[in-house]
Parts: sequence; structure tokens; C-alpha cells
Amino acid sequence: MHPNQSESNFRSHLIAIVIALVSCVAVLGAMNLFGVTAEQRKAQSDSLKIGDGLTVHYIDVGQGDCTLLTCDGKTLLIDGGSEDQGSRVVRYLKANGVKQLDVLVATHPHRDHVGGLGTVVQNFPVKTLYTPVTESENAWFQKLADACKTMNVQLTVPKADSTFSLGKAKVTVLGPRGQYETLENVNNMSIVLRVDYGDRSFLFTGDAEYDEETAILDAKCIVDVDVLKAGHHGSEDSTGSRLLHEATPDYCVISCGENNDYGHPHDNTLSRLRDAKATVYRTDEQGTVVCITDGTALRFVTEKNAA
Ligand SMILES: [Zn+2]
Ligand SMILES: [Zn+2]
Repeated sequence: MHPNQSESNFRSHLIAIVIALVSCVAVLGAMNLFGVTAEQRKAQSDSLKIGDGLTVHYIDVGQGDCTLLTCDGKTLLIDGGSEDQGSRVVRYLKANGVKQLDVLVATHPHRDHVGGLGTVVQNFPVKTLYTPVTESENAWFQKLADACKTMNVQLTVPKADSTFSLGKAKVTVLGPRGQYETLENVNNMSIVLRVDYGDRSFLFTGDAEYDEETAILDAKCIVDVDVLKAGHHGSEDSTGSRLLHEATPDYCVISCGENNDYGHPHDNTLSRLRDAKATVYRTDEQGTVVCITDGTALRFVTEKNAA
């Protein structure tokens, strides 16, 4: 080999190495490994507006549950609070541009979840309604079923592990998985949903207590999420250590009424959430809590008393 050729080979190798190093630094820089992560993340999260990406509204309905999810123009409503909240929920949905409900989920036949849904069904076309049972002794569930008959909406019992899409978000039915026929276990019939959007995920457990949490965990469902809605309004018998250990939520939203008669959320639940290092949002203290995500960043907006 000619000496000059070897020197030029060496030089081109050197240049290639330098280019590779510079590219590495650029790539690492772009991956936020040089200290600007927090700032960039904050700017990204601050720029999110209600209605962007996947928006989850934990609507303040006093002592009860009502959560609206919107994504790519699609809508999912989980529960509707008690009957006295029905028209408030309808107003909230209309104010947020909801024209129809692609999916409505009545998690379980208890008044504080289905009481307001009769009014909702009378005001919005509902494409799919999921309920854990098609009949119940609960008077408010019967009123909902009557409204559905009038409005020609079918009650569908979803299968565990089935999935449906909400725009680009994917919704998975994790529960119920067991046979909970007796009335004292109505909370454990709750339809439990996991929602994934990009890298972000949410878990909605209705009023599921330990029995249902255990059934879901024993079935090896993936429950690891960013945002958990505390089961049963933060009651002591829900949001157990085992669920928290596997879910590792960064945030937890508790839907309960101010000075409610049940003592929700329970001190022990709050203490478990502290141990799990989850940031807690509460509708009794902060009103409606909205979480917006573009699949990467998350932003929480509260009606009052920002955390
Ligand atoms: Zn309940
Ligand atoms: Zn409840």
C-alpha cells in the first residue's frame, strides 16, 4: 500500500470517528440527558390544553364517580354520579363539546355511579353501553335500563381482557373477572378499565375492593400505570398495598364528596398512597380534576386549589 494512501485512510477513519462522536453527543442531547430534561418536560406539559391528545376529566359530582375521556374526537364516559348530578353532568359534557358518547360505562349498579346516567342517556346518543349485569335490584340501575329502552340503547356486558379503541387510545377491560352475585359484593362487580395512550396509561377501578383487585392481580393483568383512580372513593377496602406495589402510579385521583358521610378517603388509604409516593388529587378539595396527555407529557388542571 502506498504510504500516502494509508495516511489518507487514517485521516478518513479519524473524521468518521469524530462525526460519530458528534452525532452521539447530538443524539444524547436530544434525549435530554444533559440537564434540560425537567425544563423541557415542563414546557411540553405546560403547552397542553384541555381537549388535546387524551384528556381525562374527573368530574366533581360530590359523593360519586363520573369520568369523561376524550381522544381524537371520540368520547368515553365512565359513570354519571347520583341522580341529582345528572343535569350537571349533561351541562359539563355539552360545555366540553360532547355531541355523542361513543362508549358509556356504568361500572356497577350503585346510585352514586348510575343515578345520573338516565339523564345522560336521554341527552346524548350512546353508541355502546357497557354494564357488568343486564338486570339489578338497584332502583337507579332500573331507571337507567328504562331510559335505555326508550332511547333504544342496548346493555352490553363486556368480556374481561376485551379491548376497544378510543381514537388512538386503547382501552382494555381488566374486570370484573370473578362471579360476584351477592348484593354485599356489588362493588366487586365494577367494570375495571385500563387506558393506554402513547407512553401514558390510566387505571379506572370503579368501586372495586380487595377481592376484585386480587382477582385482577392473580390473573396477571398489567396494572402498571401513570395515573390511578382510587377505588371506591378512597375507601379503606380499596387501593390495597398489593395493587399499589404493582401499579406504581405517579398520580392518584380520588373522587369523593366534601365532608361525606362515609369518611372517604380513609386515612389508611391516604397513608398507603403516601408510601407509594403518588401525588394525590381530590375532587372534594380541588373540584373537577383534568389530566391531559400527548402520550408523553402529562398535565393536571384543577378547578380550585391547584396542588
Ligand atoms: Zn359502589
Ligand atoms: Zn361509589
